[in-house]
Amino acid sequence: PIYLDYNATTPCDPQVVETMLPYFTTQFGNAASRQHALGWQAEEAVDYARQQVAALVGADATEIIFTSGATESNNLALKGAVEMYAGKGNHIITCVTEHKAVLDACKHLEKQGVAVTYLPVDEKGLIDLGQLEAAILPATILIAIMYANNETGVIQPVQAIGRIAKQHNVLFFTDATQAVGKIPVQVMTDEIDIMSFSAHKLYGPKGVGALYVRRKNPRVRLTAQIDGGGHERGLRSGTLNVPGIAGLGKAAELCRLQLAAEGQRLSQLRDKLEGALLELGGVSVNGDREHRLPHVTNLAFQYIEGNALMLGFNKHIAVATGSACTSASMEPSFVLKALGLADELARSSLRFSLGRFTTEEEIDYTIQKVSETVQTLRKLHPLNS
Ligand code: PLP
Repeated sequence: PIYLDYNATTPCDPQVVETMLPYFTTQFGNAASRQHALGWQAEEAVDYARQQVAALVGADATEIIFTSGATESNNLALKGAVEMYAGKGNHIITCVTEHKAVLDACKHLEKQGVAVTYLPVDEKGLIDLGQLEAAILPATILIAIMYANNETGVIQPVQAIGRIAKQHNVLFFTDATQAVGKIPVQVMTDEIDIMSFSAHKLYGPKGVGALYVRRKNPRVRLTAQIDGGGHERGLRSGTLNVPGIAGLGKAAELCRLQLAAEGQRLSQLRDKLEGALLELGGVSVNGDREHRLPHVTNLAFQYIEGNALMLGFNKHIAVATGSACTSASMEPSFVLKALGLADELARSSLRFSLGRFTTEEEIDYTIQKVSETVQTLRKLHPLNS
């Protein structure tokens, strides 16, 4: 089948797999074994990967903490900041369209007495900077706003948020899982203090990710959530996943080298797909079209049931209704509802996310197949008969 669900996960790039392989077999050492060559080799591989990852986001290698993925990174950022800065305050500002790994961590913190403000988004999926600034209280310690949304691809005004956070002496944490490796995310120019991302969204392996934690102006401190041997500067104990980390490093390097050209190529393909499907009529784009990831389009198809639409072609084309974590339930996407879509239209929306191995032939085939299915289903719809 044609894979157009790159926001859910990406295949490992063959070069990434090749980079990882020796660390499973001949170079299997523990990166914390400082007494022999196998340990040094593993440590060297981790150091190198840390530099590759740092280079992708404009950070210093010492500011990168390896984790098991963005879910863990998000939990460490939120819970670690709340614990560390408890003396300053107990208020967090986030937004209603965040990933569950942020929203549910916030809910957990609320049960422990932390106050959380959930900013709304407008019909384009964007937060209002005035509302953000107005929500800041003396007790506010952290602003947690995602870089780009996983369902719509909408990019928040990150740089402006970072500036507001700095002016008010509040930390800015961003879940950049969908943005890193796809668009030029730069922690210094974007004024980001803490940032999470994940290898499996950028052609690396599953189960490994990173957290950027700023070390200068301001020096950000977090309380560890996993205690043990003191790995990762004490922030995340546990024997390092050396093959996974080496894979993330290589994946980050490949993304850095290809990012500009790939963004352009994919936005052209995305625009071709989107343009052709919009011509069917009764189709609209969910979220802001300008501030959006280059490889994503989320489309609402009127007078069609979303599942029927998917069933029409999902043997041939893999797309998503909602996000991977919520698509098992029949609930309409909370992200699309936050943009103001009625339940019915949210249910009849599909996310197409393109990636490195998407070809023009695949897009042409998708246009044909989806158009046919839409036309067939509309003939059956009671409103059309
Ligand atoms: N944050 C966002 C925005 C995501 O899209 C995802 C992926 O599902 C995650 C966090 C979770 O990442 P991971 O699968 O690495 O835990």
